[in-house]
Amino acid sequence: MHKNLHKATDCIHSDTKFQGVNTPIYTSTANRYLDYDETIYPRYFNTGNQKIITEKLARLEKGEDAIVFSSGMAAISTSILSQIKSGDHVIVSTEIYGGTHKFILDEFKRFGIEFNFVFGNDLEKLKTSVKPNTRIIYTETPSNPLLSIIDLEAFATFAKSRNIVTIVDNTFGTPINQNPLELGIDIVIHSGTKYLSGHSDLCFGAMVSSKSIKEKVLSSALNFGGSLNALDCYLIERSLKTLEVRVTRQNDNAMELAHYLKKNKKVRKVYYPGLEDHPEHEVAKKQMNEKYGGMLSFELQGVPTEQFLKKLHLIAPAVSLGGVETIICQPSKTSHVKMSPKDRLKIGVTDDLLRLSVGIENTNDLINDIEQALT
Ligand SMILES: *Cc1c(COP(=O)(O)O)cnc(C)c1O
Repeated sequence: MHKNLHKATDCIHSDTKFQGVNTPIYTSTANRYLDYDETIYPRYFNTGNQKIITEKLARLEKGEDAIVFSSGMAAISTSILSQIKSGDHVIVSTEIYGGTHKFILDEFKRFGIEFNFVFGNDLEKLKTSVKPNTRIIYTETPSNPLLSIIDLEAFATFAKSRNIVTIVDNTFGTPINQNPLELGIDIVIHSGTKYLSGHSDLCFGAMVSSKSIKEKVLSSALNFGGSLNALDCYLIERSLKTLEVRVTRQNDNAMELAHYLKKNKKVRKVYYPGLEDHPEHEVAKKQMNEKYGGMLSFELQGVPTEQFLKKLHLIAPAVSLGGVETIICQPSKTSHVKMSPKDRLKIGVTDDLLRLSVGIENTNDLINDIEQALT
């Protein structure tokens, strides 16, 4: 493959060793080993179908190598646990995916791993939380569900000076809009279930990093076993071909909807990093290449939230995100339901907050649907 292709091209073309432009679905779990350097086995993360998508993801994320897992949580748990031992300390931003928050609360204590949740994406607070045994700082930007932004370059520079591994969940950013590895972050995580799949019909996860970090994560991954089957790999290969086209449209649609909601008198507040009055707009502009993603959140004014949700025709109240169809959810009842109401309020997730995952429909139809549900 040529080195300096554009992302739209990289999404489509792979270095296939086959005559077809797609990789054949190779389902064999038993493979000959005599005369071969490597034993191929799905849980060794080295089948042809797995490799073709890890190479593509590594290229798109500007990393050296990648691993694909059976879910986003498998990518998160394996990547974190591969870097630490009992007695170590991990710093985590409070504005992260609810499942990651629950993983840390449920599992870390039993293994004697210390942790601190640090409010929001505040770099100064992250700095003051570092202890001599801090091994990892884990964060998300744009964050879920309030779309706050952390300055990745400043964050990475600080962590490197202390020898701390940085992990960023780039699910909301997508490899099209943002490449944290280029800014000095060590490990990028994706819930591929979202934008990378894009059609709300696949579940997978990925980590991307340097070769040396990937080898360390891989040695734990072989033991934890969260590998992916050939059929799903094939569907991911297919989904990735349209990633750039889908995300470009989702970026544009979300920007248009954010401006529409901002002007609407029945909307109290809009959270979108593309809006100029977003507190971290300038940082987002710099590190997201002036594209702000397909996720936004808002609060209604004088319209009961549940009534609004019930009146929507086109936009489905549904859990998950990143698909071609626009869906909406109430984080206090879905992604953040496991967080205590007190913790939710502390991070600004009110009961009435709505999170919109913007699809690739015509925006006039989406605006008409919102408009009729507000009346
Ligand atoms: C969905 C999600 C995850 C978890 O991914 P699964 O594929 O459901 O395991 C992690 N991080 C973010 C930001 C997500 O949206």
